[in-house]
Amino acid sequence: MLYLSTRGGDGRLTSAAAIKAGIAPDGGLFVPEAVPRTDATFLASLVPLDYRQRAVAILELFLADFSREEITACVEAAYGAAKFAHPAVAPVTGLDAHTFILELWHGPTNAFKDMALQILPRLLVKAMAKTGEEAEIVILVATSGDTGKAALEGFRDVDRTRIVVFFPHEGVSAMQRLQMVTQEGGNVAVVAVRGNFDDTQSGVKKIFGDRAAGEKLAARGFKLSSANSINWGRLVPQIVYYYSAYADLLKTGAVAAGQPVNFVVPTGNFGNILAGYYAKLMGLPVKRLICAANSNNVLTEFLQTGVYDRRRGFHKTLSPSMDILISSNLERLLYHATGGDAGQVAAWMGELAAGGAYTVAGRALDAIRETFWSDWASDMDTTEAIKAVYGKYRYLIDPHTAVAYHVCQAYRRATGDAAPAVIVSTASPFKFNDSVLAALAGPAAAAGKPAFAAARELARLTGLPVPLSLAVLEHKAVRHTAVCEPAEMQAVVIKALAEK
Ligand SMILES: *Cc1c(COP(=O)(O)O)cnc(C)c1O
Repeated sequence: MLYLSTRGGDGRLTSAAAIKAGIAPDGGLFVPEAVPRTDATFLASLVPLDYRQRAVAILELFLADFSREEITACVEAAYGAAKFAHPAVAPVTGLDAHTFILELWHGPTNAFKDMALQILPRLLVKAMAKTGEEAEIVILVATSGDTGKAALEGFRDVDRTRIVVFFPHEGVSAMQRLQMVTQEGGNVAVVAVRGNFDDTQSGVKKIFGDRAAGEKLAARGFKLSSANSINWGRLVPQIVYYYSAYADLLKTGAVAAGQPVNFVVPTGNFGNILAGYYAKLMGLPVKRLICAANSNNVLTEFLQTGVYDRRRGFHKTLSPSMDILISSNLERLLYHATGGDAGQVAAWMGELAAGGAYTVAGRALDAIRETFWSDWASDMDTTEAIKAVYGKYRYLIDPHTAVAYHVCQAYRRATGDAAPAVIVSTASPFKFNDSVLAALAGPAAAAGKPAFAAARELARLTGLPVPLSLAVLEHKAVRHTAVCEPAEMQAVVIKALAEK
């Protein structure tokens, strides 16, 4: 299977070359030239398998230039007991007979980014060997919190790679900050940027776009690459858990073979939900994909009206990992929904870059709306959902998952659809102690509490343990103290590479 660009640039690449490149030379994203199909027999064959075996079965459909042995080695290392605290890796829990939670936060950094970022570095190292790459790969990351830490954990001490993570100085939660500034590993650098996430992201994009800097780095044996969710190597591992969740529902008898289910996904960059769309294209019985947004509701407006307009205020919300106005992976959906009309996709992306907006109409919009449904949750809705779910089911959810729960209820009220729903849970509630504690015990209980005091209070209230990977941060030394201006980011990268 080969990969092409959503914007039509010529050339078809192997999966190894697509993973190494990250983004296509014409600025588009790599998509498979044909989506593999699976049938009921395939699905039934997954039921007795564990998560790792299911992952091999799905990944080998897409990574045709990797051997089964190579894929298995990557999967075993990524999803083994040393990395995932839960033996099921991505367990499904029932709230009631038709509402389920898919827990994607049992990895080393307690957010769903681990599902992809534990395996991406391993696939990348194999891809470098396959393509005869001699340069050392430098991964540059701009993060609003979760991606940075997950990428650091995934790439730390990985041979022939370096990683530099930039985060907005005042823009991440206390736990997220501690996770990053205490990061260990010989090939890592973590730098705070005096600016917001947009400044940080623009700074990284500028470095990628600077040809002269690229040549300077190349002369010294370095090549830049990205661990953001535009990389196909991050997307394809996410398809696995949609299949795995369905297989688990079959296994427990919660659904009958072939019975359609809905997935509700808290969405920012449109990567997670897009993996669900690929699963549906492949033949998984998915009825609707419900896109849950926070008050940065650019995707809700798009899925309801066909108008994508990023020209609006940026809101800081209780679900910061979804505070984003440019959802890069939407480009892949547009490609598939237009039947692969790369010229049209390139035109829309040109309008977005130049004017901040584009409009999809007609058959493409109908096709999108047949599968996708969307609504959004305010911070107050989010807080109420955390409280309601805990009150009703004694089950604790984080603010991102709470956004999805709220939108799931809204969907059911609006459509009357009674199909089983799987709510995709993307972070441990202990990553967002203050907002979760405030939701359960009132704002006064959380106000001014240091992060670990809030975590302990939350644990005491709920009887749940603080995840070990977060608890240990309290006693870890801070190793990264650098702060820079947005304009200094490129110099920081060059200096970090010179130091080691
Ligand atoms: C990244 C993230 C999201 C958004 O996922 P996308 O793939 O960007 O849509 C949602 N919740 C959490 C906790 C995240 O870290």
